[in-house]
Amino acid sequence: MGRIKLEEIDTRAPGALQKEQVKLETAGIISELNELQNLLYAESKHSVLVVLQGMDASGKDGLIRKVFGNLNPQGVMVHSFKVPTAEELGHDFLWRIHKNAPAKGMIQLFNRSHYEDILVTRVHNLCDKETAYKRMRAINDFEWLLAEHNNTTILKFYLHISEKEQSLRLNERLDDKTKQWKYNESDFAEAKLWPEYRKVYEDCFEECNKIPWTIVPADQNWYKEYIVAKKLKDALSALKMRYPGLKKA
Ligand code: AMP
Ligand code: MG
Repeated sequence: MGRIKLEEIDTRAPGALQKEQVKLETAGIISELNELQNLLYAESKHSVLVVLQGMDASGKDGLIRKVFGNLNPQGVMVHSFKVPTAEELGHDFLWRIHKNAPAKGMIQLFNRSHYEDILVTRVHNLCDKETAYKRMRAINDFEWLLAEHNNTTILKFYLHISEKEQSLRLNERLDDKTKQWKYNESDFAEAKLWPEYRKVYEDCFEECNKIPWTIVPADQNWYKEYIVAKKLKDALSALKMRYPGLKKA
């Protein structure tokens, strides 16, 4: 596969799709996900890790609420990775990540992830190129470890929004009382670094694609939710899980 060029990928749903139709389909998929999650938990052979990355305001929080909010909370865990604490910085960059990897039977969501350590850190020169490439190799090995040794299905999503949509959403944060809490003073300064972010994301897609990324057109929430729900449903269905029956004495 050639290098993914984000500028060449649409941030919007294909024109022919009908929003209301897709929303109905997503609702059906989510109820199937409920069944599949129950089975995942009951069988407890596999685990699932959903990695969500994207620029500020790409809609990670909303996606978590809409697609995963209706699943059984006993089987879903969410971890939002923030700027590392002093304790976290005292360890290797995967230490805080590995602690949050899913147990068998569980779906774990990463709202941001180990990828921040080769993205935001690179853009802000906290991590040079050589270190970033070493980290990307470590990430590939780490993901392989989870997949191979804990039957973890890893789904990686990049929520792909346009600069224009991001700007609209950031401005909305300033005006809308229910969204102001999300606003961060650095948001507009970060948005100006778009070309730098685009480059480091593209490097990441190139180097860390053994477990593939899905680039999700994310300007419209209904389409983004559909794509993620569908990918998860297909991945869970492919596990061919079975209820274990009565426990043996
Ligand atoms: P939010 O997702 O809006 O709650 O913001 C979390 C912030 O933490 C974002 O600005 C991330 O870029 C930042 N962050 C997360 N992980 C790291 C990391 N490993 N190194 C530096 N900053 C990080
Ligand atoms: Mg933020």
